[in-house]
Amino acid sequence: MTKFDSARSMRVTATFGARFELCESDDHAAPVVPARAKGKRLRPVTGDWVLARPLPGETDWQVESVKTRENELARTDSRGRREILAANVTLMIVVVSSRPQPDWFVADRYLAAAELMPSRAAIVWNKSDLGEMPDAVRTYQAIGYPVIETSIVSAAGIDALRELMQGESSIFVGLSGVGKSSLINALSGSDLQKTSAISSANDEGRHTTVAARLLNFRNGVTVIDSPGVRDFAPALIEPARVAQGFREIAEAADHCRFADCTHRAEPNCAVKAGVESGSIDERRYRSYLRLAQLNRQLASQRF
Ligand code: GDP
Ligand code: ZN
Repeated sequence: MTKFDSARSMRVTATFGARFELCESDDHAAPVVPARAKGKRLRPVTGDWVLARPLPGETDWQVESVKTRENELARTDSRGRREILAANVTLMIVVVSSRPQPDWFVADRYLAAAELMPSRAAIVWNKSDLGEMPDAVRTYQAIGYPVIETSIVSAAGIDALRELMQGESSIFVGLSGVGKSSLINALSGSDLQKTSAISSANDEGRHTTVAARLLNFRNGVTVIDSPGVRDFAPALIEPARVAQGFREIAEAADHCRFADCTHRAEPNCAVKAGVESGSIDERRYRSYLRLAQLNRQLASQRF
């Protein structure tokens, strides 16, 4: 066997500055190993698939290359730079509840970020013990997003959620207090306290709280999580692409008279016609206008 035969495909489950934790698969039982990268220019993030090999005489593995990403979960940092939180997310779960009160624009903005990544997305109406699912959630269902009602208190919907998440690399997003941590805990069974392959006592371990972590639970659920993932503010969207973030609007836009229609005041706009006829939800249309406006502002501040 040559040196090159021993490189294996592994997934990054955590990053600690220049060190990483790798797992051979998303199987709960797959062993986790510590690693460092070959060269400073290699910058794997949690969720990346990499090629790595064990270093002779060491416990560390060496990451040799990062495979092309399916997508990136990115936010814009305080200096306006794009920061990648995680890679290869396949399901964005937007959690809403009656308390705190839903902010539908925030939900629409997350769904738009998912459409553009692209990643599948679903809505969880949590705390179903406290309030009935509102019409806005039914609208999401009508647009085609899977909707699940859950309650940590009654355990309603947790099995259905686990089912939806099989084979996916999921993230939970939403306002603080809607129950994201509680849901992850409920899904994890007793797996959440799994210890890290890299001691959090060492210097680099101090980065643990910010970086995302990929958790493989015994029941086939994979969650990529961190405080920064849970309340991430989506990165700037090129203004012309905002409509792609609203799937029913993007669909109608094919029938607008102008290919570059912004669906504001143009004649023969199929989106506005859809809003008037009721086939496009007016609240979603207003979210689209607001998100387009927000991104035009952000873009003009930046350049
Ligand atoms: P996060 O900020 O989104 O992670 O929310 P948490 O998981 O910390 O939950 C916020 C609060 O809501 C906690 O006090 C939870 O106990 C409570 N909570 C979470 N899920 C439910 C639920 O389904 N029903 C009720 N009644 N309370 C819940
Ligand atoms: Zn239009």
